[in-house]
Amino acid sequence: MVPPTKPKDSSTTHETSNASSQNDEELWILPEEARATLSEVFKQLQKTVELHIVTDNDPQNMFNGVTLQFAYDMSRLSEHITLVKHTLGDKFSKKHEVEFSPSLLFNPDEYDIRFTGAPLGEEGKAFVETVLHVSFGASSLSETSKAILAELIEPRHVRIFSSPGCPYCPGQFMNAVKSAIERPKLIRADCVDSDEFPELSKQFRVGSVPHTAFSETYHRIGLLPEERFCLELLMLRDAKAVLREQMQEAEPEEEGKVYDLLILGAGPAGLTAAIYAKRSGLDSIVLDNSVIGGQVIATPTVENYPGFQSVGGTALVEILTAHTREYSNIRENQLIDDVTIGDVIEVHTAGRTYASKALIFATGTEWRSLDVEGEKKYFGTGVTHCASCDGYMFRGKHVLMVGGGNSALTDALHLKNLGIDVTVVHRRETLRAEKALQDALKREEIPVIYNTVIEKIYGNDTEVEGVTFKNIKSEEISEHHCNGVFIAIGMNPNSALAEKIGAQLNPDKTIHVDTSMRTNLPRIYAAGDVNGGVRQIVTAVSDGAVAAMSAFEDLQHPYWASEKNKQ
Ligand code: NAP
Repeated sequence: MVPPTKPKDSSTTHETSNASSQNDEELWILPEEARATLSEVFKQLQKTVELHIVTDNDPQNMFNGVTLQFAYDMSRLSEHITLVKHTLGDKFSKKHEVEFSPSLLFNPDEYDIRFTGAPLGEEGKAFVETVLHVSFGASSLSETSKAILAELIEPRHVRIFSSPGCPYCPGQFMNAVKSAIERPKLIRADCVDSDEFPELSKQFRVGSVPHTAFSETYHRIGLLPEERFCLELLMLRDAKAVLREQMQEAEPEEEGKVYDLLILGAGPAGLTAAIYAKRSGLDSIVLDNSVIGGQVIATPTVENYPGFQSVGGTALVEILTAHTREYSNIRENQLIDDVTIGDVIEVHTAGRTYASKALIFATGTEWRSLDVEGEKKYFGTGVTHCASCDGYMFRGKHVLMVGGGNSALTDALHLKNLGIDVTVVHRRETLRAEKALQDALKREEIPVIYNTVIEKIYGNDTEVEGVTFKNIKSEEISEHHCNGVFIAIGMNPNSALAEKIGAQLNPDKTIHVDTSMRTNLPRIYAAGDVNGGVRQIVTAVSDGAVAAMSAFEDLQHPYWASEKNKQ
């Protein structure tokens, strides 16, 4: 573990790189490559960012040391970042109501933005983004979000419970950070590492992250689009319907602009389609109703994607996103309401209409549920689909992983790796997953309960305590104690919008396409998992490339025009 060093008690400790001694070099917690990248990023900094770190000086608390060293590293990367150290219980911590060690505050005289716990893993990204926002001193919220927050008249302490492996958490925390910058006197943005603070997490009934406590009583699980986040922060209730009404009145963006190609879905298929569209000279935009990356972002480890024997899902998405952004705009959190086909194709999102000559559905799939008693009740408090996000919370506990496919086994191995006692439950006698994963399961001595389904998930008010099993061969019913249930039983295609506009579907609700990724509708294409097939990342990117090239070909030589002429 990296020892706490350098930062001085209640004193500013900015040091330029010239001041680093050889000794310092050995004490960097940030790898050299990350340091080089961040030094470049921090060149944009404007106002000085004062990092205030509060610890209880407990040497047994490894997070104290990590946070100190992390913050110290950051302060060495830019003259615009300074570091001040405080002790829990001192004047500073009392003034700023700091209760936990370690805590990290940003320009506390101006804003109330803090990390409760070490900003590890994905939270590191949120840390860097926070530094940038605080330095710029501008929220960068949309005009709609600003108007919503302008109505806030009472204080809000927003806690985002997160975990280091959660790819959705930084986005939700940044919603809170931007809100806190917009209304600095009223909003506290607090990113709480749920793994480090189990008691606090328990108090807020956190079982799945990101978990946002907008107040003591109004909570929400998952990443929200920015405007909706602001509205729920203001109203302390579900605001989807209200948001739609508000957005209808918003200024339509880029009025009159007609793209060559609109791509729905920012997973590997959609991102690749955007790259190939640009190569063909098509002006494209990618819209996603959630965050970039599709299923891959929540995949702990991707194995054997050509070029990578093994790569983290998030890392692969970052590489693909950076590449795509060179060529195309990608917009996340777009609530897509409708698609209409006329002279141009229109995609109606909450408040905006995008027009295009052609459209690719790369909308992927969504997690299938078990549909058993207790599943909904405990969703987010013990039942989950996301091993990357929620695995950390079950360390030292016993969980079940339901499913016999590649996802279930990949996730089970990830959980085991985190120190979780995991058992796979599968409804048949043999697993569907590929042999390499089955071998790894055996090697890791992860037990499998075969021929068994879950009939009921039960527990107390706050936690899962067990499940009722049914052996489908013997019909025997049994009880099994567990602390959590991870579900990976396959995916349902997101094809409802395509179906609504008349695209032909296959019996399993995937979109029917030809080998050129054309649907039965002129100018409409589909790519990736929403088409079914073997659902590998490599086939999704292939579909995306083919769909974009077909769109280019067809816009140059519209086959539908010649078909019309024949009639
Ligand atoms: P999948 O391959 O369709 O497997 C789903 C599993 O869940 C099957 O074992 C299925 O049982 C079981 N199941 C389905 N409905 C169930 C229900 N109601 N109750 C209990 N069990 C149920 O889905 P996946 O594992 O999510 O994978 C989806 C696609 O992604 C696949 O093409 C897969 O190859 C790909 N993928 C690849 C990797 C990789 O590393 N290469 C990793 C993850 C996913 P049966 O076996 O009885 O049908």
